[in-house]
Amino acid sequence: MVTGTSGPEWGRLSAEIRGCTLCELHRTRTQAVVYRGGSSPRVVFVGEAPGAEEDRRGEPFVGRSGRRLDEGIAQVGLGPSDFGIVNVLKCRPPKNVFSPTSAVTCHPYLDRQLALLQPDLVVPLGAHALRSLDPAASRITDVAGAPRTAGRWTLFPMLHPAATFRSRQNLARWEHDLLALRSILGGG
Ligand code: SF4
Repeated sequence: MVTGTSGPEWGRLSAEIRGCTLCELHRTRTQAVVYRGGSSPRVVFVGEAPGAEEDRRGEPFVGRSGRRLDEGIAQVGLGPSDFGIVNVLKCRPPKNVFSPTSAVTCHPYLDRQLALLQPDLVVPLGAHALRSLDPAASRITDVAGAPRTAGRWTLFPMLHPAATFRSRQNLARWEHDLLALRSILGGG
């Protein structure tokens, strides 16, 4: 099996996701959103679901939260080929309301993406992403900013970037956890 995004397995998986009709979200999407990032990333960030901008452009985290995430990625010292971004749900849920039922249906795609990408670290962004990867985890605010093991992956949970626009406290937590992530990645 060729790991990363350059092999035929990744192409087949991406095509499968783009044509997926396994849950009701396919009826309202513009397009499925598969991946943004390097071909063999060290770190994979996992968001919850595409929003309106992502649904329109077909890439994850390209709106306001995406700009916050990209700033954070640069702050921790990751270059364009060092990271990848996916979502738990590949299709935008109506009114951006996360669907746990669809997440269960969609989860095998995330598993297969991670199995191909083989990152050193997986960063779930927000409670839904955390629960999808580690169902036993407690609240995101209790566990964000510290590494933990879930199955075969080392997780580093963080708040969802959208949360940083809701309160100064969340933004401070985000910045604090970025420093911890930078340290783990060897950036001092
Ligand atoms: S959200 Fe996932 S399971 Fe549902 S239609 Fe999209 S790709 Fe398929």
